[in-house]
Amino acid sequence: MAKITDNNGAKDLKPDTRLVVAGRNSAENHGFVNPPVIHASTVLYPNAADLVAHRARYQYGRRGTPTSEALEDALRAIEGPGCAGVCLVPSGAAAVSTALLSVVSAGDHILITDSVYRPTRLFADTILKKLGVETSYYDPLAGAGIAKLIRPNTRAVFVEAPGSQSFEMQDIPAIAQAAHTANATVLMDNTWGTPLFFRAFEKGVDISIQAGTKYIGGHSDLMLGTISANETAYPKLKETVATLGLCVGPDDIYLALRGLRTLAVRLERHQKSALEIARWLANRPEVLKVMHPALESDPGHAIWRRDFLGACGLFSLVLKPAPEAAVHAFLNALQLFGMGYSWGGYESLVILFDCSAYRTATRWAPGGPALRFHIGLEDKGDLIADLERGFSALSRTP
Ligand SMILES: *Cc1c(COP(=O)(O)O)cnc(C)c1O
Repeated sequence: MAKITDNNGAKDLKPDTRLVVAGRNSAENHGFVNPPVIHASTVLYPNAADLVAHRARYQYGRRGTPTSEALEDALRAIEGPGCAGVCLVPSGAAAVSTALLSVVSAGDHILITDSVYRPTRLFADTILKKLGVETSYYDPLAGAGIAKLIRPNTRAVFVEAPGSQSFEMQDIPAIAQAAHTANATVLMDNTWGTPLFFRAFEKGVDISIQAGTKYIGGHSDLMLGTISANETAYPKLKETVATLGLCVGPDDIYLALRGLRTLAVRLERHQKSALEIARWLANRPEVLKVMHPALESDPGHAIWRRDFLGACGLFSLVLKPAPEAAVHAFLNALQLFGMGYSWGGYESLVILFDCSAYRTATRWAPGGPALRFHIGLEDKGDLIADLERGFSALSRTP
């Protein structure tokens, strides 16, 4: 029997197996396990007739190479049924802006969750506004009630669940149903869930976005955005990516493919450690509340249970009111948790955040200083010892 190293063979396999086999095409690649990294701009045509007719499997580096196709194929296999195609762009932020541009025209109205990743809000409030597209922000808890906010010219609803700082869950199937009734496209930033833990296309999403920079890359060494689309949305999306001239360098694509192969095992560990550490934090006297949808106490837990297949390593907490100096002392005392604005890599991270300045549909007043943690692949006992160091610095600082 032929060995399975491509999408045709991968189709009927479980997600973890698809992560391993999809997009490799070993038979076409001289038997090598991994696809080649092709550095390319020009493609040579064999004769004048083919040149004039643009008749070639690959036409130009920007329009796709065996390397970019390998990652697109692998991601399509992992998204599974409902995903017609995947486009690669240079960052998660570019994935958000390109996906939105592929859907809207001047005079349209769109709805975006108030809990959205902040640069998404910035794109809507500046470039989309300048192009004549109006944005309203909605309460992430709106659920089916979002129907009331849909106008005759509402072209798209942009969801993200949970919010990547404030962790509200959303009833995405209900929102998608309301949007589709009004003929609006549903876009989702699914970076937190990844295609493994949130099956976007089965839940009514039309275009699903990943900051590939995060868990797909997984090693804090690349920038990448991926946009997966259903049959209806894919042609316009592909055309928009091509017209904007977007493409990704082959070395970054290769790193993403390499990261993808271990996504399932990494996520399993991120999930387990993060949940145990979240439970430990929830019992600390310094902590007001932990925002993690997999915790039974979380207001979004029922939706998470119903719609998600897992939780990644990212969650937040609110400390009981404490002076700024004490919170800084907590952060500065940590030796394993780095301070930096990203997540999804193998290492643990923490940031301070405050959404109050830019929310427009909801009020952010959590009752104390808010911290976001990314739990990496370190030993969880070591991480807890690190957090204990932080808490003792916090209580020592007046
Ligand atoms: C990081 C992030 C992005 C943007 O990804 P970049 O690759 O950094 O541009 C988009 N959405 C979410 C939820 C993110 O966390």
